Amino acid sequence: MTDFDYDLFVIGGGSGGVRAARTASQAGARVALAEESRMGGTCVIRGCVPKKLMVFASGFPEQIEDARAYGWDAGIGSFDWPSFRKQLHVELDRLEQVYCSVLDKFGVERFDQRARLTGPHEIELADGTRKSAKHILVAVGGHPVRPPFANAELGLVSNDMFLLEELPRRMLIVGGGYIGCEFACMMAGMGVDVTMYLRGGQILNGFDEECRGLVAEMMRAQGIDIHTGTTIVEMDRADAEDHMPRGAGSDAAMGTPAEFNPHPDDHLGGNPKSDTARQAGCPVWVKSTNGREDTFDHVLFATGRAPSTKDMGLEEIGVELGRRGEIVVDEYSQSTVPSVYAIGDVTGRVELTPVAIREAMAFTRTVFMGEKTPVDYDTIPSAVFTRPELGTVGLTEEQAQERGGIDVYCTSFRPMKQSFAGRSGRTLMKLVVDKETQVILGAHIVAPEAAEMIQLVGIAVKAGLTKQQLDATCAVHPTSSEELVTMSAPSRSG
Ligand code: NDP
Repeated sequence: MTDFDYDLFVIGGGSGGVRAARTASQAGARVALAEESRMGGTCVIRGCVPKKLMVFASGFPEQIEDARAYGWDAGIGSFDWPSFRKQLHVELDRLEQVYCSVLDKFGVERFDQRARLTGPHEIELADGTRKSAKHILVAVGGHPVRPPFANAELGLVSNDMFLLEELPRRMLIVGGGYIGCEFACMMAGMGVDVTMYLRGGQILNGFDEECRGLVAEMMRAQGIDIHTGTTIVEMDRADAEDHMPRGAGSDAAMGTPAEFNPHPDDHLGGNPKSDTARQAGCPVWVKSTNGREDTFDHVLFATGRAPSTKDMGLEEIGVELGRRGEIVVDEYSQSTVPSVYAIGDVTGRVELTPVAIREAMAFTRTVFMGEKTPVDYDTIPSAVFTRPELGTVGLTEEQAQERGGIDVYCTSFRPMKQSFAGRSGRTLMKLVVDKETQVILGAHIVAPEAAEMIQLVGIAVKAGLTKQQLDATCAVHPTSSEELVTMSAPSRSG
């Protein structure tokens, strides 16, 4: 029998990797974990956690305005970004320490350096040390990508947003997915003048049409200038002569296809040098397909993320990668090399932290506890932290319509708190129900705190409850979510 240094070597200290390392160790395995950047990964260091803290920060002006409407003598004052940013990073440092302590407590050996695969059972660390393991788990996540055109490196990506020295006065956000819409609302809430370019006709592709429409309307009402069917054709430093893109006419001006990413370290906490260059850089001049030329303090590319599989040694040892560079795995997260598993964003399945955590636990059960456990990807609730939030679970009305035989229960109203404050904001609640069985196929909420609501109604949808079973629950009055159990007649059927 071969003697390995470890039973499990995890590469990547994000939510998925840390959970797998901890649970495998608890199951009796000898475990090591390597992380090249900061422990906690995208979610904790440059994603969900700092984002949510920024969402809180950006919500106060509205709350203070509401407070005045409710009789408080409250002043809005100004927002001190450097002070908030300092406190934000104190909190991220604290959380990083929590992650390190968890691994230490459960006896996981930590290597604070990059690791790559040099064999089906072998890992090479950045300092040249080689380690062997019976199983290797790749949980290195993904990184934001810029579109492939000249000078795209002048734009920021989401990682950079948490490191800005100062808030921009005007910014352009390219892309209308989760990240683009969330940053648009956060920045607008903090007083930044935000313009958005969408290459398509609407924000939040793939979400329920009516909900997308309402969120877009509410975003516009906050002053966010959304341009549909619009992309950048040229960009340059605003102080460049004639605003001509550098390298025009050369290969560089054509951009480099697919994997173009001028900052290979974007998937990390950020290279201090390149971050500083972009953050302190001069305003950016942009020419767009709508003929408009404009100058912004910053351009943010929120144009999607890609799996961080480059230079990991994966293909060299026979691990199959997909079209986007994702590791191809089976339902047990096993790659085409039997000793190599992968979980989280690096597999390009569902790019959400709780999903990576579930994949980690299923991996531990399968490999170290003798219970083959596939991950259940059916009916995953999620939320977009726009203002108002959008919570969603199950089929959209459009997806359900393709199947046919549905009832749609929908209500839209001005919530009591906002109505009293004289706000025009509307809330929308929608249940998509199978006409014959009355099983709820999908639930969609646009409302303040929709993320909290969808977590709970998601239980009913996941459990396959019917509309009648939902209605059998007595309403909690007065709340917005009581509408979910009091919609008596379908708004339409399909
Ligand atoms: P998304 O795929 O959600 O959105 C990407 C956006 O960029 C889309 O609007 C897309 O347009 C647009 N786009 C893509 N390429 C180009 C291009 N070349 N030029 C112009 N526009 C372009 O990616 P995100 O980066 O927003 O988020 C990545 C993932 O991270 C999400 O899918 C989600 O799983 C996860 N996430 C989850 C969050 C949450 O749970 N709250 C928060 C943040 C991220 P089009 O629609 O036309 O394709």
